[in-house]
Amino acid sequence: DEVIAAAGTKYSMSPTLSAVKEATRQYGLEKVGVVATPCQTQGLRKAQAYPFARFVADKIKLIIGIYCMENFPMASLDTFATAKLGFDSLQDATKMDIGKGKFWLTKDGEDSGLAIKETHGYVQAGCNICMDYVCEWADVSTGSVGSPDGWSTVLTRTDDGESIFKAAVDAGLIETKPMDDVKPGLGLLEKLAKGKKDKNGKERERRAKMGLPLPVEY
Ligand code: SF4
Repeated sequence: DEVIAAAGTKYSMSPTLSAVKEATRQYGLEKVGVVATPCQTQGLRKAQAYPFARFVADKIKLIIGIYCMENFPMASLDTFATAKLGFDSLQDATKMDIGKGKFWLTKDGEDSGLAIKETHGYVQAGCNICMDYVCEWADVSTGSVGSPDGWSTVLTRTDDGESIFKAAVDAGLIETKPMDDVKPGLGLLEKLAKGKKDKNGKERERRAKMGLPLPVEY
């Protein structure tokens, strides 16, 4: 019930990885599932490959990755809500969404949209050199892009991801349809994933020429 109540997106930076440490060290959990952005997933996979976080990384048994084009610091979200959409406070928003070319905030059941191009200058700087839209290192990655409203596009990427997803489907917890049967379909996901690599690849080249550090090699 708590998982379902927490469903939905809040576009902000979340200290997810420190919660993994808390889950394993403080609560002593042996099998931890994490819902993570692509950058957080890269951190988790690095921690598993280079065991510098002892007794933490080996307890991660499932990573569900979410598609992520960009993210915003809390101060930017506050600006969208108050200066651009006329809310008294960001706290008044009950829902956030990105779709149909706009960043949406919902207040009192009413949606207010801000054109995406108006949000570009507010993206957190690291997102401009991030190459991963579809969480390529997760066990299962998912997001709404490619599927009709109310459905999610799910990619299983590892044997663990495939078996857990299949078990959920077999248990009747998840209803599925083949991607080939739905619109807009995988083509849109591929287009956005490639578009992010192309755009941010250029920014990486620009920064490399200036001698600025790039945290992950591609
Ligand atoms: S765009 Fe990349 S760096 Fe930014 S939050 Fe998403 S995954 Fe992380």
